[in-house]
Amino acid sequence: MKALTELTFDNRFAQLGDTFSSAVIPQPLHNPRLVVVSQSAMALLDLHPDQAETNLFTELFAGQKIWSDAEPRAMVYSGHQFGHYNPQLGDGRGLLLGEVVNSRGEHWDLHLKGAGSTPYSRMGDGRAVLRSSIREFLASEALHALGIPSSRALCVTLGDNPVYRETEERAAMLLRLAPSHIRFGHFEFFYYTNQSDALRQLVDFTLDNCYPECRSEPEPEHALFRNVLERTAELIAGWQAYGFCHGVMNTDNMSILGITFDFGPYAFLDDYDARHVCNHSDHEGRYAFHRQPAIAHWNLACLAQALTPFVSVDNLKQELAQFMPRFQSHYLKLMRARLGWAGTQPEDEGLLEQLLQAMQTSACDYNQTLRALAEDDPGVRDRFIDRQAMDNWLILHRQRQTLDPSALAQRQSCNPLYILRNYLAQQAISAAEQGDFGPVQRLHEVLQRPCQEQADASQFAAPPPDWGKHLEISCSS
Ligand code: AMP
Ligand code: MG
Repeated sequence: MKALTELTFDNRFAQLGDTFSSAVIPQPLHNPRLVVVSQSAMALLDLHPDQAETNLFTELFAGQKIWSDAEPRAMVYSGHQFGHYNPQLGDGRGLLLGEVVNSRGEHWDLHLKGAGSTPYSRMGDGRAVLRSSIREFLASEALHALGIPSSRALCVTLGDNPVYRETEERAAMLLRLAPSHIRFGHFEFFYYTNQSDALRQLVDFTLDNCYPECRSEPEPEHALFRNVLERTAELIAGWQAYGFCHGVMNTDNMSILGITFDFGPYAFLDDYDARHVCNHSDHEGRYAFHRQPAIAHWNLACLAQALTPFVSVDNLKQELAQFMPRFQSHYLKLMRARLGWAGTQPEDEGLLEQLLQAMQTSACDYNQTLRALAEDDPGVRDRFIDRQAMDNWLILHRQRQTLDPSALAQRQSCNPLYILRNYLAQQAISAAEQGDFGPVQRLHEVLQRPCQEQADASQFAAPPPDWGKHLEISCSS
């Protein structure tokens, strides 16, 4: 266990200098309170849960105090937003406090979101509100618990500082952890501003610190792109398999590590709807659920463009052509596990497609229906409008299932009973806004073991009530 003040910092990104980031001091929250903390994220920093009870913990993560070895920096990047290039973005409401090295030698970026204005804040105030901080906290930790790669969240703090959105709200901060905060948009920024030396430095930094295994390849930069593409394919497969809609898949929100990053108006599907658009501001449905694989491919093409100084266009195109097959292979693997299908059969894709079509037509709750199938619930046919067609499908499905005794437990272990539904998040947020943090903490706790039935948790397994089905979540966070 480490004392809070004794974290070991090794600020590699800060050492790249002012071309890559600007020194900024966090603007503290007034009268800060700790809203929720993740014990498993604390362990990544070698911290013990009891340490979250101290005033010092809250002060550090509300920007009131700062480690002497931290070097807070705002990173510069750009990116394609909704298909259009935005030449100047950057950390407008968050700071990279520094990089902590834990006892296993892992580097973890400490990023304080909502830390006040920076040179990249444009018209914004640099603040984050409580609701969006809680939403990011819950989603990061819930995705991680589902085995889907994500940035992590250590804690949320809340202050008295007023923040003006549609109404007056309170400022909050989220402490985000990730092995790196480099985005596709970092490469685009240096490529489109013709800073070739800086782009070279960024590629070297990424190779050395995020993909050291690529250094021994004949063409390390080519290997870097192939590896980013592979991880991204695996990530999107996880999203599609568990019904996660990111909502703002701009290239500045795409992590070079292939982890879920920068949460906005995300949603886990309630009823299965392939065309679901969770971002109220996405009028054209660019980031609809079923478009996520194609958008990831498009975003990778933006990254490929920025890597053309190092990798031949032919090689980049060849790699890009692999994206959909790689995605599909990861996706089918996950869905076979969820359905308990043994081995692989040529008819699997078609059989899965029939199930999804039937869920779409019958507006079945996505994760509940899969859990019911996993548990061989005899009532599952009644969830579908065309029960005769479902009976026929179930015969084929059962022929595909493994019969060994551990099969049921296997299927349960990858079919969540508890999902971070928008209405559950909304209930917890409403309580927190009234000063009661218990419901957020409880929801977080339940979502840490999403596939295991838990005592007194049946209300978290319920599908949404009517009011909770079509909540509109906007970008104003
Ligand atoms: P996001 O939608 O969170 O990915 O943000 C897109 C860009 O807008 C990033 O450069 C953010 O840093 C910036 N941004 C978002 N909200 C604010 C805010 N309240 N103040 C300053 N910058 C912001
Ligand atoms: Mg962003």
